[in-house]
Amino acid sequence: MKSFNVNQDGYYGRFGGAYVPEILRANVENLKEIYLRELNDPAFQAEFRELLRDYVGRPSPLYYARRLSEKYGTKIYLKREDLNHTGAHKINNTIGQILLARRMGKKRIIAETGAGQHGVATATVCALMNMECVVYMGATDVKRQLSNVEKMEMLGAKVIAVESGNQTLKDAVNEAIQDWCSHPRDTYYIIGSAVGPHPYPDMVARFQSVISEEIRKQLLEKEGREEPDYVIACIGGGSNAAGAFYHFLDSSEVKLIAAEAAGKGLESGESAATIHLGSEGIIHGSRTLVMQTPDGQVIEPYSISAGLDYPGIGPLQAYMAQEKRSEVLAITDDEALRAVYSITKMEGIIPALESAHALAVLERKTFQPGDIVVINLSGRGDKDMQTYRQLKAAYTEQ
Ligand SMILES: *Cc1c(COP(=O)(O)O)cnc(C)c1O
Repeated sequence: MKSFNVNQDGYYGRFGGAYVPEILRANVENLKEIYLRELNDPAFQAEFRELLRDYVGRPSPLYYARRLSEKYGTKIYLKREDLNHTGAHKINNTIGQILLARRMGKKRIIAETGAGQHGVATATVCALMNMECVVYMGATDVKRQLSNVEKMEMLGAKVIAVESGNQTLKDAVNEAIQDWCSHPRDTYYIIGSAVGPHPYPDMVARFQSVISEEIRKQLLEKEGREEPDYVIACIGGGSNAAGAFYHFLDSSEVKLIAAEAAGKGLESGESAATIHLGSEGIIHGSRTLVMQTPDGQVIEPYSISAGLDYPGIGPLQAYMAQEKRSEVLAITDDEALRAVYSITKMEGIIPALESAHALAVLERKTFQPGDIVVINLSGRGDKDMQTYRQLKAAYTEQ
């Protein structure tokens, strides 16, 4: 059987690795050498677990969605990552990484953010641990996501608006890497998804794997079996999916479905469906699929959902798709929005736009009445209310 574990050199098949500037080589090597030992240290685990429980509010519920189940003629459970402190799964990872940074004696934290969700989660744990925090954010995103900027600043972070390139997420990552190059000794870079140079993708997947660990326990209690028939998650960089899939990777009977953002459609030229449209290349320290021109220029991605609007994909997700361990569906803005309004009315849950891409898979696939389908509800929709308000008329008249 194929292994979906990262190998010694940081690869999943052809994808992964650590392509970093020379000045960061020692940092990345050091992290690679210590991360497994630190993460597996019982004292580390005890502190991580305690914070997940008492600060984040874990375990997040596994909720049986009765009306959705009736509508689609199958058993649908929602894994409620939207109920976590700060409103999404991202806090699981930032707690893990800041504990590691503290153990490494680092004094200063940097992070990149697109929509601001990872920036808020990082600023939150920096306040908690009394650490200096600098967040890089594209200038375009700063304007679009003002309330998250205000939260980060209130939490004590310094938000730097990046004016280079298209002034969005990939430019923010580039600036954060520049900063890291200038301060390799005292600074720890908290990456927000299962992307970047090895060991980040594996480390982030391990922190997020608490999601599938809980799903197994919760399903055993509710259904008398640990394994569902399907797990569905959206993919931006691939961290919530990595977490929701992790403890099912080697269970070949559990079908794993990833929903990437098709934006206005695969053929529209305005899309963020990296697995459908990308080709092999190197982005932000790893070899993976990249949306790029034939001569290697990164193509600016588009999705209505800022959290899925990334021109790369984590190496694990690229490998799973290549090996057909996952089925990848490209969900359009329109499909995601339909899911938002329908789930809100049927279940009383306003999902994040990102999570709505996973929910929209229900309209694409047919399930058997006895199937157990778990959908990872990665975040809540508060941050998207402006979009929802503007589009309400178009999506709610019958
Ligand atoms: C950031 C974000 C995502 C996408 O990131 P992944 O690393 O792919 O999980 C998905 N959902 C929400 C709510 C997010 O904030």
